[in-house]
Amino acid sequence: MIRVNGTLHKSTELGRTNDRRHCDYCGLSNYWILMLYTSYFTFFSIPIFTYSKKIMLACPACDNELNTKENDELRSNITYF
Ligand SMILES: [Zn+2]
Repeated sequence: MIRVNGTLHKSTELGRTNDRRHCDYCGLSNYWILMLYTSYFTFFSIPIFTYSKKIMLACPACDNELNTKENDELRSNITYF
């Protein structure tokens, strides 16, 4: 059976924090990664349109994530590539 439609999820690294941040989950301090997560609706495996975009800060050691939308201090402390 051929699948006609579906979804595709893509993650892109946008930048890193300027300062080391402490992770409450793993207890390490690192330069966190700013990630863009995009979800597409596909038709015969071809992306047709985007239905979701999220920007999150991720700890490089344990992948614990914080939503930057909720925190202005996080967004002002990021170096973009
Ligand atoms: Zn962590």
